[in-house]
Amino acid sequence: MHADLDRVLIRADDIAARVAALAAEVLHDWPDALDGGAEPPEITPVPLMTGSFIFAADLIRHMPQMMQIHLMSVSSYPGTATTSQGVQIDRRKSNVPDDLTGRHVLVIDDILDSGSTLRAVTDDLRQRNPAALKTCVLLRKQRPEALDFPVDHVAFDIPDAFVVGYGLDYNGYYRNLPDIGVLSQSAIDAHRQ
Ligand code: 5GP
Ligand code: MG
Repeated sequence: MHADLDRVLIRADDIAARVAALAAEVLHDWPDALDGGAEPPEITPVPLMTGSFIFAADLIRHMPQMMQIHLMSVSSYPGTATTSQGVQIDRRKSNVPDDLTGRHVLVIDDILDSGSTLRAVTDDLRQRNPAALKTCVLLRKQRPEALDFPVDHVAFDIPDAFVVGYGLDYNGYYRNLPDIGVLSQSAIDAHRQ
């Protein structure tokens, strides 16, 4: 275990197994061939940067469909804040087309906490007229706002603690940890800006 973690919540091999199963769930729910065509519709994954980049990279490699990936950059925990500071979509760092007509969009996020990120993103994407809009998250915190928020796919439900690893950061650090764990208070204090 990394020295800055209080405890590991989910080990790398358990993440890998669940992500593979989640990809199968997502594809199982995907619409069959449209309009009598032989092929299922293409997927347009929209990973939310930066926290979901490792999850998205693993998830999409279990999806053999044709796909064009578009990134959306959102920031809700700037710097060392561990409570939500409001959501901003950074349009300069996003490359989602303005017109998503006919596209089957899959939003991929790291963690569902208050739900304000996914609400802002899905509200924004819906205005671009996609044929379908689905959401999947790696983690969902056990708090009422998260449990009440409608999301299509969840890999893991976790306790309401601040976690890092597998893409999730604290002040930009710890994204490279293979496990997901609870950051210690001493590490939070040491890496505060
Ligand atoms: P929400 O908008 O649902 O409150 O929060 C979602 C975003 O907040 C996530 O995409 C993530 O960037 C950040 N976040 C929420 N909880 C945690 C956490 O426990 N650890 C980390 N590293 N980020 C979190
Ligand atoms: Mg995030």
